[in-house]
Amino acid sequence: MDDCPRCQSPLERLSLADSETVSCQRCGFADVPVEHEAEWEKPESWRDAMRRFYEQ
Ligand SMILES: [Zn+2]
Repeated sequence: MDDCPRCQSPLERLSLADSETVSCQRCGFADVPVEHEAEWEKPESWRDAMRRFYEQ
């Protein structure tokens, strides 16, 4: 098992729907490479929604 890059405590292994990720129970560090990729597609529509919200 890997150690946390922040606090060097053992990382907890979590299974998601179709992927596996690790997170640190001590400092809250989470390594979620799959979600990082998915979020690249979001910002534009998300920003549009926020802009619409603030313009009202
Ligand atoms: Zn940690």
